[in-house]
Amino acid sequence: MKPAPFDYARARSVEHAVELLGREGARVLAGGQSLIATLNMRLSSPSLLVDINEVAGLDRIARRNGHIEIGALVRHAKAERSREIAQAAPLIARALPHIGHPAIRNRGTLGGSIAFADPAAELPACLVALGGEVDIAGPAGQRTVKADDFFHGLFDTALGPRDVLTAIRLPAATREARAGFAELARRHGDYAMVGLSAAARVNGKNLTDVRLAYFGVGATPVRARNAEAALAAGDVEAAVAALAHDLDPPDDVQAEGRVKRHLAGVLLRRVARQLGEAPP
Ligand SMILES: Cc1cc2nc3c(=O)[nH]c(=O)nc-3n(C[C@H](O)[C@H](O)[C@H](O)COP(=O)(O)OP(=O)(O)OC[C@H]3O[C@@H](n4cnc5c(N)ncnc54)[C@H](O)[C@@H]3O)c2cc1C
Repeated sequence: MKPAPFDYARARSVEHAVELLGREGARVLAGGQSLIATLNMRLSSPSLLVDINEVAGLDRIARRNGHIEIGALVRHAKAERSREIAQAAPLIARALPHIGHPAIRNRGTLGGSIAFADPAAELPACLVALGGEVDIAGPAGQRTVKADDFFHGLFDTALGPRDVLTAIRLPAATREARAGFAELARRHGDYAMVGLSAAARVNGKNLTDVRLAYFGVGATPVRARNAEAALAAGDVEAAVAALAHDLDPPDDVQAEGRVKRHLAGVLLRRVARQLGEAPP
């Protein structure tokens, strides 16, 4: 199918994008890897596409005050090659190769993945596992929203219709930081049936600040808080058992909910091993 007719405008700056988004039915266009497909299938029909690809300064990766800041327009492919991300956000580096295929990663942006908030996507769960933040520019100015407060429901986030996500910010990994990532997909590059992004710190032989964020098991990334506590107490099997309280995945086209919950346990055992390993 072809998309319904729409107008197109190229934003010159973030402020200009916010101004253009004032028109009823306007939508941001970033890498287009999700948006164009929804247009072609007529799942959405915006009146105006506001192209932010030429807005200067949104494609930067910078380390600042113990954090790493990744601009919204950083492409997945650029992030994959980034030494700063490999060092300061190894969880993101592990997750990126699982996103679609190289052609998609060449155009798709980190900001687009977070803003789109597909419940089976890798990066929203990484953002939650790392306890990151999202910078947003809107009609009332700039604001920052914590990852735990950003994802509201299915494809629903803290972004309003006139907001532009400008960057994400993550605590830079320290020597004590540990990351774990695993997903199960029918074919490499497909959206995951179930996935798990995890972060923790080592304190002697123990893990502290364990954060487990599942994807593909609900409308948003889902923290498995009982399992987090069990893992911090050093009991992996208790953590797997705790998933019965943490997760209630609905059936979907990929798998029944009870299968997803079983797979979540399989992934947790794998990720627990990764969290126990020192980074290379
Ligand atoms: C075949 C295929 C397989 C894929 N597999 C995966 C996968 O396994 N895992 C995965 O995570 N993704 C997958 N994707 C999606 C891909 O990662 C997209 O790139 C990503 O979801 C959206 O990024 P984008 O830059 O292309 O955003 P766009 O498609 O341009 O935009 C997506 C949505 O986000 C909004 N948006 C984008 N940027 C901003 C911003 N800065 N501020 C406010 N709103 C914004 C747009 O208005 C739109 O609603 C796949 C896509 C395809 C086509």
